[in-house]
Amino acid sequence: MAENTARKVLLQADDVCKWFPIKGWFFEEKRYVQAVNHVSFRLYEGETLGLVGESGCGKTTLARTVLRLIEPTSGAITFDGTDLMAQNKHQLRALRKDMQIVFQDPYSSLHPRMTVRQIIEEPMRIRGLYTGPGEREARVKELLQMVGLNETHMNRYPHEFSGGQRQRIVIARALATQPKLIICDEPVSALDVSVRAQILNLLRELQEKLGLTYLFISHDLSVVEYLCDRVAIMYLGQMVELGDTETIFNHPLHPYTKALLSAAPQVGNFGRRDRILLEGDIPSPADPPSGCRFRTRCPYAQEACAQVPQWVEAEEGHHVLCHRFQELDERA
Ligand code: SF4
Repeated sequence: MAENTARKVLLQADDVCKWFPIKGWFFEEKRYVQAVNHVSFRLYEGETLGLVGESGCGKTTLARTVLRLIEPTSGAITFDGTDLMAQNKHQLRALRKDMQIVFQDPYSSLHPRMTVRQIIEEPMRIRGLYTGPGEREARVKELLQMVGLNETHMNRYPHEFSGGQRQRIVIARALATQPKLIICDEPVSALDVSVRAQILNLLRELQEKLGLTYLFISHDLSVVEYLCDRVAIMYLGQMVELGDTETIFNHPLHPYTKALLSAAPQVGNFGRRDRILLEGDIPSPADPPSGCRFRTRCPYAQEACAQVPQWVEAEEGHHVLCHRFQELDERA
């Protein structure tokens, strides 16, 4: 990919696959759930890249695979200049200080019997950080302030907080080790609409202040439009389109992206056009269609689509996986 060469690449994934074996009888041919299939992308320092797609399309598996929280089946991954695939368990553990995750559900991601102070101190304790007298306590107070809470909250338990406050605690815990990258896995989907904007604004402020890089997983296009610099669209384990947010939301090229946007008229310009209805269900990732994986639902599928499409750069920084994108774009 020849995109944004002046910016520092923090995370790079090349041709990454994650296939889960399906258990069967010993005489049966081995089958796999192809959760992530030949995905390549770069994440630049200080940016927010949105990963978008229907549930089950492989967004979360991809995010966990590129951090080696799940072992990739194949591919190359580089984080901050280090080849992640060449690291042993011990080396990976040391690197994890720089990569943290904020999960969707702040209710289940906090230990109910630990105080806020213990929760935020835990990652520092595990990594042996802030070991001087009073240093950890001072860091907990600083982190609570950063996320809009204060030291009076330190000795309380998670059940004493609202959903939004709990997500602030989760964010404070993620920041405890001074990470470079945070994976935000649907961080506002479980929250009330009124609280969502506050958490999104907090994530933005923290990014500006601390120079954080986010990989932001969401199925909510309006949230992605608000927060992300670039967007990657996923379908059935593959990235089908990638570009800056404005381009993707105003000038999408892939038929699947167009269908997603047509169902969300409140985002970008494209979504205000006629609704594109997709027929049929998402095929099983254990038995994906040959050629273009979208061809069983694509309204523009032709014979040529039985061949595997190539990932091409349609314009600077705008990539797409479709045989017919040019022709369809000219026709629009
Ligand atoms: Fe549709 Fe063919 Fe493009 Fe796939 S390659 S998205 S089936 S037009």
